[in-house]
Amino acid sequence: MTTQSSTESHTHSNTEADTDLQHGSCHCGSVKFEVRTAVAPATRCNCSLCRRKGALMSPTFAAGELKILSGEESLTLYQFNTRTAKHYFCKHCGIYPFHQTRKDPQLWRVNIGCLEGVDPYTLEASVANGASLSVVEDA
Ligand SMILES: [Zn+2]
Repeated sequence: MTTQSSTESHTHSNTEADTDLQHGSCHCGSVKFEVRTAVAPATRCNCSLCRRKGALMSPTFAAGELKILSGEESLTLYQFNTRTAKHYFCKHCGIYPFHQTRKDPQLWRVNIGCLEGVDPYTLEASVANGASLSVVEDA
């Protein structure tokens, strides 16, 4: 995958491979998925939704890299503001496993806390200024 963004840092400070096949699930286990993505650089976001959810997110990956293994019927879609991004969460346990970004519908991110064997608290994370992308202030 190539990214057009030149603002992102490409210095990898850890030894993780760029993209690994990751296994993930929501908290109750209804939703299980696998995804080929890097976990660094990890990102938080200050938009009105993310600051409430507080999740640490993976870098973006192409839509085709995400495979939902089970529980697609347990996923509920939440949209707000421009309604471009698609924020999914499990209707049983309320956990957000992944979302389709607003900048480019072909690009997705996962909740790093949902990935097996990855400790989100060991990753350094920057904060994306998602709030500045909001068309409607404080939506
Ligand atoms: Zn669940």
